[in-house]
Amino acid sequence: MSITLYRKYRPLSFADVTEQEHVKRTLRNQLEAGTVAHAYLFIGPRGVGKTTIARIFARAINCGNRKGGEPCNECSSCKEILENKSFDLVEMDAASHTGVDNVRENIIENVRFAPAKLKYKVFVIDEVHMLSTGAFNALLKTIEEPPPHAMFILATTEIHKVPATIVSRCQRFDFRRISVPGMVKRLKEMANEEGFTVDDEVLAMVSRAADGCERDAESLLGQLLSLGEKNVTRETAALVLPGSATVQVAELLACVAKQDAAGALSSLNKFVEEGVDAVVFLDELIETLRAMLLSSLGANETLDRMMGGAVRTQVLGFVKEWGMVKIVGFLELCLDARRGTRLERIPQLPLELALVEMCIDIPVLPLAPPVPPAPLAPSTFIPISVSDLERQWPKVFERIKEVNATLPLIIQTGKILSINGNEVEMGFQYRLHADTVNQAKNQAMLGSILLEVLSCPLRIKGIYALAEADAATSDILEQFGGTVA
Ligand SMILES: [Zn+2]
Repeated sequence: MSITLYRKYRPLSFADVTEQEHVKRTLRNQLEAGTVAHAYLFIGPRGVGKTTIARIFARAINCGNRKGGEPCNECSSCKEILENKSFDLVEMDAASHTGVDNVRENIIENVRFAPAKLKYKVFVIDEVHMLSTGAFNALLKTIEEPPPHAMFILATTEIHKVPATIVSRCQRFDFRRISVPGMVKRLKEMANEEGFTVDDEVLAMVSRAADGCERDAESLLGQLLSLGEKNVTRETAALVLPGSATVQVAELLACVAKQDAAGALSSLNKFVEEGVDAVVFLDELIETLRAMLLSSLGANETLDRMMGGAVRTQVLGFVKEWGMVKIVGFLELCLDARRGTRLERIPQLPLELALVEMCIDIPVLPLAPPVPPAPLAPSTFIPISVSDLERQWPKVFERIKEVNATLPLIIQTGKILSINGNEVEMGFQYRLHADTVNQAKNQAMLGSILLEVLSCPLRIKGIYALAEADAATSDILEQFGGTVA
């Protein structure tokens, strides 16, 4: 049996509601100033406090001892609503009462009569976008000319399905997903109140799994507490939480360490089939790599907060094996993939590509401090000409081939355009190639090779330039006696 926290800890005042500060402040100010609207539209994902705030508002507007916009929860009006006994708070779930008859019966007929006991009759319609067209039209007339005692709060998760005519009649509030820290704080209070202690990292895992939905987070916490252990640790939590992301990330990293691209992709597919969201998972991977990066620099706190036991030992092994430069390279790949997810029709594809690259592309650079990114002061810099560089290029290219399998194929298609200070501009016909060359890990590798071969601190900057366009430009410039820069 799971402990039902959601009802038990339903906030009684605006101040108790997690986050949504902008909504709470505006409503309290309106209640104080007596400037409340007659129709509100609450928009936002499920489980972020829309109906909770609607109920607090219904009490506050009717409360005889309201203070600072908050209901007293003691007077007869507040008590009647809290005990679900009031006829003047009408709550309707449009998902199960979609038809025009329901709206007519529950709202349009009802709204004409004065409130039974309270000052205002408050109508809360949840999932309002589910109403039929006929029902919306009937509702619209009432909202356009509401009796002075009527108050409407419409809540929806899908604003685009609510007719514009309705939206324009309402004062609109956009609710946001609850942040992980906000959720952790709230869950911690509940757990302590119930007499449990739960590790912060477990609460963070619960919050992340709930993806901003407080109701889901509270339900997961309820399941954890019902395991009966007074102190809920990561190990206990693993029994309840859907496939712990940290363990899954470690499994993928193990494939990367073995350069097993097939294994990495089949693990990822298994996770996705189990219901893991590829984008959320990519975020977990990025968070883990970030913790590993910090750890490679000697700061283990973040990693320790994220994982423990055997997984931690395994991941620390990867940190030692890979070192800072390679972890930075992996992070770059994953961040690129993260940017790509918005554009891809298959959201897991960018992650798959990144994983393949992580598996096949293990730069084994024995040497090489990374090149300083800023241009050097002119006095310390020995210039090299384009023709000098072109003459030495075969040596550079051979060295690139020695340390990397894929990059030479790209470099081969590039053309040295110019040298500005310590920056070599190299033109590529495809944007992807230029972008690849500009990735931090490739920059670090190319920089160290140039330094090694030419004893010259250069950086290669990939530039996307169509060959044809270039030729045309240089023709024009030549006519005018200029040069291609
Ligand atoms: Zn009251």
